[in-house]
Amino acid sequence: IVQARGIHKHFGALHVLKGVDLVVAERELVFVIGPSGSGKSTLLRCLNRLEDPSGGSITVDGIDMLDRGTDINKARQRIGMVFQSFNLYPHMTALGNVALALRKVLGLDRPAAEARARAALERVHLADRAGHYPGQLSGGQQQRVAIARAIALEPRVMLFDEPTSALDPELVGGVLAAMRELRESGMTMVVVSHEMGFAKAAADRVIFMDDGRILEQGPPAAIFGNPQHERTRAFIGQIE
Ligand code: ATP
Ligand code: MG
Repeated sequence: IVQARGIHKHFGALHVLKGVDLVVAERELVFVIGPSGSGKSTLLRCLNRLEDPSGGSITVDGIDMLDRGTDINKARQRIGMVFQSFNLYPHMTALGNVALALRKVLGLDRPAAEARARAALERVHLADRAGHYPGQLSGGQQQRVAIARAIALEPRVMLFDEPTSALDPELVGGVLAAMRELRESGMTMVVVSHEMGFAKAAADRVIFMDDGRILEQGPPAAIFGNPQHERTRAFIGQIE
């Protein structure tokens, strides 16, 4: 469903992605690990064109993301993204935050948007918090609202960039559970995270990125249990 080939990205003189090939099958969960600065976030941001790659090709759900003729805002609707920081509007309720995305992006009227927002909040088990403001929610609940906001738009692929890194340890589990349920519902997902337990339990494939390249990839058991590269071994040794 995602086909990225030969992706390069330069920031001025800095060569951050050095020819990355990433093909993600429908319903696959691909987990991306690698040292800080290896280009994980940049890769995700290139996939939905938050960054413009300097070279290569990307199609998502059959749409050429780099073609000038492609309506990029429309194409982006197929790709949900969740970041480390949840970026909710503090003056709007959980329901309001999710509904706003539906009104703005899909042009739904308020009742239709709120009905769909409520259903999305139910999927992350926050129906009972719909009327709460972000300040009245825990970090984990806020992140689940951010997930609801993304899935309400019914994307074909979800990208997660360190969704639990900003959370207190006791709040991580709830967010991972929501992600696990999303995965079980058949969502295609690309997840950048340090949560190795989640990777072992839920990932179909683990990719190790190093210095702008995919150095190694395979099933979680192979990458964590028997990494082929010295750098992969060193990295895994560090985080476990
Ligand atoms: P981390 O694990 O710390 O999140 P990462 O693997 O996600 O790291 P990236 O955020 O993709 O790494 O950054 C890769 C490199 O690109 C880094 O050297 C970073 O400083 C650089 N970089 C990222 N965004 C920009 C930008 N907008 N302008 C200039 N350099 C950037
Ligand atoms: Mg990053």
